[in-house]
Amino acid sequence: MSELIELTAAAAAERIRAREIAPAELFEAYRARAAGNDLNAYTWVAEAPPADDGYAQAPLGGVPVAVKDLFCTEGVPSQSGSKILEGYRPPYTATVVGKLAQAGAPLLGKTNQDEFAMGSSNENSGFGPVLNPWDRSRVPGGSSGGSAAAVAAGLAPWALGTDTGGSIRQPAALCGIVGLKPTYGACSRHGMIAFASSLDQAGPLTRDVTDAALILRHTIGRDRHDSTSLEFPGEIALPQAEDLKGIRLGVPEELTGAAGGIEPGVRESFESTLALAERLGATVEPCRLPHAPHALSAYYLIAPAEASANLARFDGVRYGLRVDGDADLITMYSRTRDAGFGPEVKRRIMLGTYALSSGYYDAYYGTAQKVRTKIAEDFDNAFERFDFIVTPTSPCTAFELGSKIDDPLAMYLNDFLAVPMSLAGIAAISIPSGLSEGLPVGFQLAGPAFSESRLLDAAYALERAIGFDGSEARR
Ligand code: GLN
Repeated sequence: MSELIELTAAAAAERIRAREIAPAELFEAYRARAAGNDLNAYTWVAEAPPADDGYAQAPLGGVPVAVKDLFCTEGVPSQSGSKILEGYRPPYTATVVGKLAQAGAPLLGKTNQDEFAMGSSNENSGFGPVLNPWDRSRVPGGSSGGSAAAVAAGLAPWALGTDTGGSIRQPAALCGIVGLKPTYGACSRHGMIAFASSLDQAGPLTRDVTDAALILRHTIGRDRHDSTSLEFPGEIALPQAEDLKGIRLGVPEELTGAAGGIEPGVRESFESTLALAERLGATVEPCRLPHAPHALSAYYLIAPAEASANLARFDGVRYGLRVDGDADLITMYSRTRDAGFGPEVKRRIMLGTYALSSGYYDAYYGTAQKVRTKIAEDFDNAFERFDFIVTPTSPCTAFELGSKIDDPLAMYLNDFLAVPMSLAGIAAISIPSGLSEGLPVGFQLAGPAFSESRLLDAAYALERAIGFDGSEARR
């Protein structure tokens, strides 16, 4: 059984197609591990494998997938990590989850997350924090912390998460796995419980780059249920590159200099990865993203503004929790929202409502949108000279549970290196680049919109050269 767990998803699918293992056997191996996990990575685990409807012929071979709680899944609890949606079972399934099932990746379980995807440590979950399998006294990152911990610990072959301002890449980095944020619009948002609609994007958390390419291949595409989704130009090729000849990497001074607050161990791993990239044939040069240092400030206006609008629908009338007042309707609304939302969600609703209120709209939200445009232009300019922009994914490795939870600004700084790409809507991937004091470090590559196939290729070449071994976290 433990041998099954050591296979990547692509390798497991291969073995199923060769009829060396049965899909139900693989499903049960993971199901048992997921159900017995002591990391609090799951909020719900499937009870039995689905009936085998020809998995051996399906492109994804019946290899089951864990999905973040915020993806609506028909008949299955979908709570976005919030008490306000406790026990909510939607009548329909998110497009990307449906697409994966159709390609032969059935649902294994729902993973724990920060409430409404707001957070960088998974400590904001209404269902308790997730533990990092590399060190159980530390956070797995967030907000897709359950998905990241599950994949790293061998409690799932692969998983889906969402990234609004780093929530796939940062937990992937802290858990020593691969995380890809696709170009905004590449994957449908239909059925994803919304946080910030102009930023939210679904994507894979996987053990290696090939698995990430496979999930992406089967989740992209225009969906008539999401008017911001786009037809992806071309197919997602499986990565094959063995070197980085001719690839120009840009290192943005504004993010990797002193302002980034990058820990020495993270910097060391980043620099040795750059040296490795050069040995593989890449050129590495400094580049400029002049407005990137303002990304965090712009993000923390735009994301809460959109969240305050999106979360208005949780009022005790239509979904989940209701705390009935003996009094009037408004009292019922406010009691429900008071009891159902956690402190970070309330903070963001207040911040967002304030930023959108008349008289402040132009000064805050309007200005933040202008900064966003400038940041996108910075990337456009940089991509005229460089194929990819590279940074560490997170300034630090996994931190101790409880160490930042009372300091929102310290928590927000975790996303300093991830948020600019989200605001620009471009593609970015995090791959493990090594360990610092026994904890994983992530290396981020960002490319232009729809450059995913090239980006995956470059990440694959680096991944092979780095040779990161994540097996320790699966013990
Ligand atoms: N950590 C960031 C936040 O709290 C990003 C979250 C995300 O990408 N969903 O908003």
